Amino acid sequence: MIKVTIYNEFCHEKFDEEVKKIYPDGIHKAIAAFLSEEDDITVRTVTLDDEECGLTEEVLNDTDVLLWWGHLRHGDVPDAVADRVKNAVLKGMGFIALHSAHHSKPFTRLMGTTCNVSWREDGDLERLWVTNPAHPIAQGIDTYFEVEHEEMYAEPFGIPEPDELVFIGWYEGGEVFRSGCCYKRGNGRIFYFQPGHETYPTYHNPAVQRVIKNAVRWAAPVKRDAELVCPHVKKLKVGVPGSFR
Ligand code: ZN
Repeated sequence: MIKVTIYNEFCHEKFDEEVKKIYPDGIHKAIAAFLSEEDDITVRTVTLDDEECGLTEEVLNDTDVLLWWGHLRHGDVPDAVADRVKNAVLKGMGFIALHSAHHSKPFTRLMGTTCNVSWREDGDLERLWVTNPAHPIAQGIDTYFEVEHEEMYAEPFGIPEPDELVFIGWYEGGEVFRSGCCYKRGNGRIFYFQPGHETYPTYHNPAVQRVIKNAVRWAAPVKRDAELVCPHVKKLKVGVPGSFR
C-alpha cells in the first residue's frame, strides 16, 4: 500500500461561496475521494489549522507521498514544518506540489529558486500536451488533455531545469507553461502539477485525477534513509581479493 498524506491549507473553502460550492468538504477531501478509489493507496488528510499542520515527524515517517495545496497562507506554515518536509523528501518521501504550491515553503526550499510565474485569472482553457509519452505519469493520457477553465500560469517559471518534463500547458491567451515537472532531491521524487485553481472544478476532471494517481505511484519511495548523515569512514582495502590478511 502507498500511504498518502494530503495537506491543504483549507482556507478559500471556508469563506468563498464559489469555492465552497465546488469543494464543500475542502480540496483535500475531493482529492482524497478519488485517490481512495485505488486499491493500492491509503489516504490521510491534514490542514494548516492542525497542530504543526498535522505534519509531525511521526506522520511524515508514516507517509510515502505528501501532496500539498496552499495559496493564501503559505507564510503561516511554520519554518520548522517546512524544513521537516524537506528533510523527509531528502530521505525518500515523495512530494507532489499542486498548482499554487509552487510558492509553498517546502517546494521553494527543495527548488532553491523563486518559483515565480506570471499569471492571469479569467478562466482560460488549458490544454496540456504530453511531452514525454513513455513517462509513468503520462500513462492513460493521449497526446493531450484539457482543463476547461484554469488559472493561467506563464513562463518564465522560476524553477531549476526539471529532470523530466511531462506536460506543457497552453492557454487561450497563447501563453505556455511547464505544467508537469519532475525532480529528484536526495532519495525523494518531486512532481509539480499546475492545474488546480480553487474556483474551478479541476480536481473533478478525470484526466487530472488520472495524472495525480499516476504521480502518486511514481513518487512512492524506492529507498528511504532513517537519518541524513555524513559519516567519516575508513578506507577499504584494495587490490586482488584474498591478497590481504
Ligand atoms: Zn490559483
